[in-house]
Amino acid sequence: MTYPTQPTASHFIDGQYVEDRSGTPIPVVYPATGEVIATVYAATPAIIDRALTAAGRAQKAWGQMTGTQRGRILRRAADILRDRNHDLSVLETMDTGKPLQETLVADATSAADALEYFGGLAGSLTGEHIQLGADFVYTKREPLGVCVGIGAWNYPTQIAAWKGAPALACGNAMVFKPSETTPLCALKVAEILHEAGLPAGLYNVIQGMGEVGAALVTDPRVDKVSLTGSVPTGRKVYAAAAAHIKHVTMELGGKSPILVFDDADIEDAVGGAILGNFYSSGQVCSNGTRVFVQKGIKEAFLKRLKERVETAILGDPLDEATNFGPMVSERQMNIVLGYIEAGKAEGARLVTGGTRVDRAGYFLAPTVFADVTDDMSIAREEIFGPVMSVLDFTDEADAIARANDTDFGLAAGVFTRDLTRAHRVVAAFEAGTCYINTYNLAPVEAPFGGSKMSGVGRENSKAAIEHYSQLKSVYVAMGKVEAPY
Ligand code: NDP
Repeated sequence: MTYPTQPTASHFIDGQYVEDRSGTPIPVVYPATGEVIATVYAATPAIIDRALTAAGRAQKAWGQMTGTQRGRILRRAADILRDRNHDLSVLETMDTGKPLQETLVADATSAADALEYFGGLAGSLTGEHIQLGADFVYTKREPLGVCVGIGAWNYPTQIAAWKGAPALACGNAMVFKPSETTPLCALKVAEILHEAGLPAGLYNVIQGMGEVGAALVTDPRVDKVSLTGSVPTGRKVYAAAAAHIKHVTMELGGKSPILVFDDADIEDAVGGAILGNFYSSGQVCSNGTRVFVQKGIKEAFLKRLKERVETAILGDPLDEATNFGPMVSERQMNIVLGYIEAGKAEGARLVTGGTRVDRAGYFLAPTVFADVTDDMSIAREEIFGPVMSVLDFTDEADAIARANDTDFGLAAGVFTRDLTRAHRVVAAFEAGTCYINTYNLAPVEAPFGGSKMSGVGRENSKAAIEHYSQLKSVYVAMGKVEAPY
């Protein structure tokens, strides 16, 4: 199978594609057919060393450039990404199986937004002046040095840019390791950044499984690690980074709640629940997979939900009419099927879906369970697939307590027409990213990230600058030095 914009080698190091077939081969599978569309090779220790050496060397001069100069390159890369959106979206679809209808609007475009936003911000990164009588202190915002980005498989283009754009804007270099499941798209981000004028060595992509990520995280030349992944991986990466007191950003998993009150606009609430469960076939970290519905609206909500979910168009992801694609891999499909069986066995009521779809590839029908209780595994564990759990509630305070009764804290949403209640509920949510009468929007201007076990730090927005730079504080004395002896 051929497709446009195919990367030409496994790695991108020091401004060019690099191949080294001595590493473990990683087949790239198109999830809609199971066909192997490419093979990349895991980075050997020599490749890891080459990438880190290039990054360390290149960062020195990059950190000395003005923010405006750096930003201009990032904004140029954003324009190239937009110009090539169609081909890059096809590549993202081949890498992940997500429908082209989605990738055309949510992946290369989101990466372009990040490069444009942080490119625009780069020239305005300043410190402050603190007057102390005649003396004063000034602060400078300095780069951290070499940053490592480690990506999950659900948004390979977006994650590569969400980490790369603020890192580069702040004057850092990056070595990015994509998920072994979706290794192709980050290579194109690297290629386009360099085409836009990024000096060689500043954005490198190397492939590999967890061991390659672990080797990067433990290398003393690395100053910062940003991971998008599961909580168990986050725990390991955070601990490894702690050994050298490295900076970290952790974008981890979730089991987020959506509260739908009796007075909600039912079509909006159903639409929000659909966006929060079935976009990208449910493979979205912030998904609102526990949908708490107030008793008075429950049956009407379930009726409309079933009707609308059953109109989803499953099929060839490259056909723009398709709006529901396969799971990213056979492994992930089997994990989700296990949860569907657990839901049935634990006594949840299957409203729709619940099966594998009879066609090639790793397709599951969008699945809704009702009458789910808080103790069921489908209500407690992150499934990362198209499985929505609908739970009942009557009392607001009780619903909030149940919504918060989880170790995760990534996102949360509320649907109600009562403005006061909406703000009261989000104030009580223990989650980093909250929604009122919508769900799962992630514009680059807004901070994105989790509380509790769902993460540390924030991506996007001005807040990300804090996580890719450090302050130097300079005390300037204007008088004599008074010492006791
Ligand atoms: P994993 O945690 O399995 O993997 C994430 C990345 O970490 C992969 O690149 C993986 O490599 C790498 N990795 C694995 N072990 C180590 C290690 N010991 N040291 C360093 N790196 C390692 O997550 P998935 O790829 O399965 O992605 C799904 C998870 O990501 C879900 O929990 C989801 O919620 C979360 N996620 C969070 C987001 C957020 O912004 N909060 C956004 C998107 C997803 P490899 O897979 O190649 O072995």
